[in-house]
Amino acid sequence: MSQTATASERPRVKARVRPVEHFIDGRFQPSQAGGAFETIDPATNEVITTVADGLEADIDLAVRAARQAFEEGPWPRLRAAERARYLRRIAELIEAADAEIAEVETLDTGLPITQARGQARRAAQNFHFFAAQIETLSTASYQTGDFLNYTLLKPVGVAGLITPWNTPFMLETWKVAPCLAAGDTCVLKPAEWSPLSASRLAAIIAEAGIPDGVCNVVHGFGETCGAPLVEHPGVQLISFTGETTTGSTIIANGAKTLKRCSMELGGKSPVVVFADADLERAVDAAVFGVFSLNGERCTAGTRLLIEEPIYDEFVERTAQRAGQVRLGDPFDPKTELGPLIHRDHYERVKSYVEIGRQEGRLLAGGERPQHLAQGNYLPATLIADVKPRARVFQEEIFGPVVVATPFNGEAEAVRLANDVRYGLAAYVWTRDLQRGQRVAQAIDSGLVWLNSQNVRDLRTPFGGSKWSGIGREGGTYSFEFYCDLQTVHVALGEHSIPRFGTGG
Ligand code: NAD
Repeated sequence: MSQTATASERPRVKARVRPVEHFIDGRFQPSQAGGAFETIDPATNEVITTVADGLEADIDLAVRAARQAFEEGPWPRLRAAERARYLRRIAELIEAADAEIAEVETLDTGLPITQARGQARRAAQNFHFFAAQIETLSTASYQTGDFLNYTLLKPVGVAGLITPWNTPFMLETWKVAPCLAAGDTCVLKPAEWSPLSASRLAAIIAEAGIPDGVCNVVHGFGETCGAPLVEHPGVQLISFTGETTTGSTIIANGAKTLKRCSMELGGKSPVVVFADADLERAVDAAVFGVFSLNGERCTAGTRLLIEEPIYDEFVERTAQRAGQVRLGDPFDPKTELGPLIHRDHYERVKSYVEIGRQEGRLLAGGERPQHLAQGNYLPATLIADVKPRARVFQEEIFGPVVVATPFNGEAEAVRLANDVRYGLAAYVWTRDLQRGQRVAQAIDSGLVWLNSQNVRDLRTPFGGSKWSGIGREGGTYSFEFYCDLQTVHVALGEHSIPRFGTGG
């Protein structure tokens, strides 16, 4: 809980940070209109540095650079193995800088340093993974007596990549890596609350020798920078991760220019625990799943659905563990839970805690500890006995807040799990594997883990159902989005052709 143990880290990391500029056509540059905004340290709410404020003109410049790189440059025409070599170079540069990237991320987002390091390593893995994927990607051929019909995967053009502020570096690479692997070019618009690590990514892209214009980064706010990117006629693809309501606006705005959209949106994921489950492991996973990454995790298990016979015990054990989650300075390696990204977000999460106090029984957390008076600190919070119609059961809070609700039997468990608009992830705990699979398959969500916390296999499709998203990314599924499928029909012999216009 110490704010002083690592007090020396913050000024050291901060001293290294430079004002953030856009990266357009291989060059760092300020906004055309000259504007800038400030990025804030969530642990102190002090200004870290200024960030170029991108507007329509900056987006236009970046899209033109990306279009030119796509239409005239080498990138889409390189062999897959050559593009893969560049991607591996990016991965190596991230690996070489992962400690430094993690520090910048911690400063900018409040993510605990040990967790930020893990995210930086995962970012490198994203590039290694999609390099391997593009080299081994295969397409189909369909043979008939007279024809050989085969498919080709071709890059589409320019992609607009719009990302949120939670685990920003990892999520940006989750889009940039498959996009570049496919042979597309892009304009990345990072979230305005977490711009620093995207700027580091741009520097790495330059150092890796990626041709100018292939990958551009424009900073700015959603409505003034993201929206012009979505509406730009030079952009064909929009890959978006963020809130459901923003996703819906983006789909509407992109419709005029017929954008292909991939949407990774919000969640309110259930953790369903049956009475026969391994409770020790289920408690470990539930606590880790919702309080790691500061609770700012799209797949967090934020609704504990617990079978009645074990409800009291499970809730008590979770409350006790929540009370021990170490809240503190994100630079302290012992910290498990850091400050929330921004004062506005902190106020929003706090307002849900107040609603939760009315709608259920507050069993852990809820109040900022006195010794952490400055930053956006909220302890691990558990609200029990919450009814399904409660707002804290239905709405995404996106902070270290979990609710608990009892259920009676399998049918009610499934009904409660599905009783929200979201459908991103679910976690099921039972020793009865047949029931586990029945329940997993009955839950409307893109992802389900059975007797496990969130462990990703990058080959599997990632994405949500219902209000949690449209489309899947990951593995070869990413290329269904970032590539066009072309079919070539080859006549093998002299098949008969109707003889129109011969007067016969
Ligand atoms: P957000 O929707 O507020 O912002 C996301 C991005 O969209 C930002 O870069 C923002 O500037 C931009 N934006 C906002 N309005 C825009 C507009 N009109 N046009 C174009 N761009 C616009 O989301 P957030 O608060 O940054 O992130 C948190 C949300 O992201 C949560 O809902 C979380 O569940 C979700 N999320 C989902 C996944 C997933 O994979 N499903 C992963 C991470 C986060």
